[in-house]
Amino acid sequence: MTINSRWTVPIPRCSLQQWIFGSACDPISDHHAFIDPENPDTNFLTFSNYRLLAKRVALGLLKAGLKKNDRVLIFSGNSLFFPSVFLGVLMAGGIVSGANPSFVSRELAYQLKDSESSFLFVAEQSLKTALEAAAEVGLPRDRIYVLGTTNTPPAAVLPQTPSPAPGAKGRAEGTRHWTELLAGNLAQAETWSWEEPVNPEEATCCLNYSSGTTGVPKGVEISHHSYVANGVSVVHTNKLRPDFAEKQKTDRGLCFLPLYHAYGQTYFIANLPNLHIPVYVMPSFDFVKMLSYVQRFRITTLPVVPPIVVLLAKHPLTKNYDLSSLEAIGSGAAPLTREVCEEVERLFPGRDMWVRQGWGMTEVTCTALSWDPTSTVRGSAGVGEVYPNCRARLMSLDGKTPITRANERGELWVTGPTLMRRYWRKPEATAETIVVDADGTRWLKTGDIAFVEEYKPGGIFHVVDRVKELIKVKGNQVAPAELEGILLENPDVADAAVVGVTIGGEELPRAYVVRRAESKATERDVAKWMEGKVTRYKQLKGGVVFVDAVPKNPSGKILRKQLRDRAQKEVGDS
Ligand code: AMP
Repeated sequence: MTINSRWTVPIPRCSLQQWIFGSACDPISDHHAFIDPENPDTNFLTFSNYRLLAKRVALGLLKAGLKKNDRVLIFSGNSLFFPSVFLGVLMAGGIVSGANPSFVSRELAYQLKDSESSFLFVAEQSLKTALEAAAEVGLPRDRIYVLGTTNTPPAAVLPQTPSPAPGAKGRAEGTRHWTELLAGNLAQAETWSWEEPVNPEEATCCLNYSSGTTGVPKGVEISHHSYVANGVSVVHTNKLRPDFAEKQKTDRGLCFLPLYHAYGQTYFIANLPNLHIPVYVMPSFDFVKMLSYVQRFRITTLPVVPPIVVLLAKHPLTKNYDLSSLEAIGSGAAPLTREVCEEVERLFPGRDMWVRQGWGMTEVTCTALSWDPTSTVRGSAGVGEVYPNCRARLMSLDGKTPITRANERGELWVTGPTLMRRYWRKPEATAETIVVDADGTRWLKTGDIAFVEEYKPGGIFHVVDRVKELIKVKGNQVAPAELEGILLENPDVADAAVVGVTIGGEELPRAYVVRRAESKATERDVAKWMEGKVTRYKQLKGGVVFVDAVPKNPSGKILRKQLRDRAQKEVGDS
């Protein structure tokens, strides 16, 4: 049985940039769109400068040889200019792929190669990693653009010929500084319009990487239409607030969620700018700075991931700050217990503060289940109802029988205009993940186990388990298949399986390893060896255990459930 959303909202058929800005050249608002919280008086981008800068990046990229549908990889923490680079790529007809700035070179090389990116934007401090990865995949240095580490004042970015801008030091021979893209194109940019995609449903704008339900990370092809559809739902949900028009004037967002991930992108590059809500941009997450910025700038909107809710609940410093401006705290990307939410809610005595969860997945652009802000339900551990224009159903694990009873568990399937087009150049993985039903509807098998309180539009879903391989460490994706592949490169390892285990409320990767007969390596040696191969959050912090054999079914598939149960018994929370 299918549960429809309570809302059908029209989706404009246009590019993401058209949806955000409304037009390429008409006068638009000059409110502060992005602000550097360290230097708010001098370092900011107005909404019209956001558009202008993006157009200049687009013109620069076209001049540098970018062709329609070329992939451009952005390997950087957040900055005031990240959104303009992102939109600039789209305006030039390119496709953005964002990579986690903490990646080591092999991880970056994988994504560069898989996406066949022809341009790379890289933060100055990550240049060494980027050069190694670029050399490995044969990306020429003159296709590498270095983004400054500072939020250079717009005065240095917006006038004519700012190249190289302050902060441009530290470039490696042969690479370029990103402001070179802007050289001499201010006047042209003012009157230039991007070409609108003929068919926004079929125009890919993003390749966000996700391992989905199985295997290694894959490029998730999100179309302009899907991004716009997601934005339309966020805006619709926001406007449900009865005092929306009043609230909008004082709303303020704080962005520390990474802009390479769908969650950060959709909120801070697209939705809040579209709603004309100023965004304070932090280069990365810093708990104390977050608290001080909420207090100082009277932040109202705070999308977070569960470890941040835990910090808010447990950190002694939380109580030293005035967080009363916060209207809502929304958490997504990983499970969160109701107890922790309640601890945070108690920090706001006498206030109707509600920490509420939403559910999303890169494969549905961002969000598919979320709460109606006018809901009077409080204290629910649910992730809300079906997002506008979307539909959901629960199915038995073999995908054959629909669940029709309230509170009965099944695999969550979702569909709607936000559903990905496909996995980039991986038709088999696409076919495994998307089921086309008899009436031609494409359904995403999410690999999450959920139940719904009532079988009706508006029914509240609860996500209670995961049957896919994916491990989530502090909201970041860790693909067991990737770690297993790397472990097999170790000369001491004959076979390996990696599963997630929850220790102290946090999910961590744990490896079961078959050691080669002649090897003298210890479990500690294997964990240590892995440290040099992957970024911090993918390391085997859940431990390494030697076993005689990895349990597999007759066709060679790892019996992950068996290993997960074993891991949980050995070291996990009871
Ligand atoms: P990503 O594609 O990185 O956004 O990861 C999507 C996955 O994160 C989902 O399929 C879930 O397994 C998990 N997830 C997202 N939101 C929640 C939530 N509220 N509760 C539990 N798991 C979640």
